[in-house]
Amino acid sequence: MPLCAELYQKQAARLGLDELQMYDEALVYPNGNATPIGSTSELVEKARNMYHELSPETGEFFDFMAEYELFDLETKPGKHMGGYCTFLPNFKAPFIFSNFNGTSADVDVLTHEAGHAFEAYYASRHLPLLELVHSTSEINEIHSMAMEQFTYPWMDKFFCERADEYRYAHLCGTMTTIPYLVAVDEFQHKVFENPKMSAKERRAVWHQIELDYLPWRHYDGNKFLSEGGFWMQKQHIFLYPFYYVDYALAQTCASQLFIKSTKNHKEAWDNYLALCSMGGKYGYFETLEKAGLDNPFKEDTVKKVVESIRGLIDEFEAKLNK
Ligand SMILES: [Zn+2]
Repeated sequence: MPLCAELYQKQAARLGLDELQMYDEALVYPNGNATPIGSTSELVEKARNMYHELSPETGEFFDFMAEYELFDLETKPGKHMGGYCTFLPNFKAPFIFSNFNGTSADVDVLTHEAGHAFEAYYASRHLPLLELVHSTSEINEIHSMAMEQFTYPWMDKFFCERADEYRYAHLCGTMTTIPYLVAVDEFQHKVFENPKMSAKERRAVWHQIELDYLPWRHYDGNKFLSEGGFWMQKQHIFLYPFYYVDYALAQTCASQLFIKSTKNHKEAWDNYLALCSMGGKYGYFETLEKAGLDNPFKEDTVKKVVESIRGLIDEFEAKLNK
């Protein structure tokens, strides 16, 4: 939280604002966030080159995806919204679905969803049973979130002269999302402990949680949101109870791989391949240990990760201001 508060303060200064409003939080730069250059097919081709340069394993994987047309990326009239990666077990083939919209989210699909897809491709060729290919989401999201960061060096391909801006914004985002992720979890604990709460009481609970975890949040005088109505926009609370915090656990581990990659890329990549080859074969703690990752539930893990990421954010920022 102290790091996030600082990052938001710097963002407000960059945007020339005294106070960030909710709708400003996503705007990192006054001239707009960095957007990728190229059509969908050009972005896929750039991704293919990138995965060939990253490793033989990812190169082979992406060729397979391209050869069998395992993408549906373009936005079309009447198409279902959203983006995800799924798996066709009979063909040991991942499939990536998305709605490209010309923002950096398109690149996130080619890294995040491709991270899930790579794991499915790789694990299904390393494990004897397809039932073992996937783990639970606090592991599965490490596959995808780590890939978002392993691919930083190739972001020049997608963002050209704004690549450093993308990398800085993305790295800050890995930290600034965490307080919200855990706030959603804490809210659900309180709601399930007290099922008879009124709608107003639930809003009061969310409002208090926001004061604790998101003290930088301002709703520009909107009464409903300022009194705690914001919790309702998170569909996970309605559809997938207690799932959202998994992203925070996964990010804490993905960050460890990223930190390691800045010191020793080979060791970090070997850890990542080991992680992907295990799929869901082992339990959570055993999987982390075999992949060389510190357990996020251990008291000093978050502290160590945040301290290192803070240093890297400072480095990225210095590069940006050069
Ligand atoms: Zn994911």
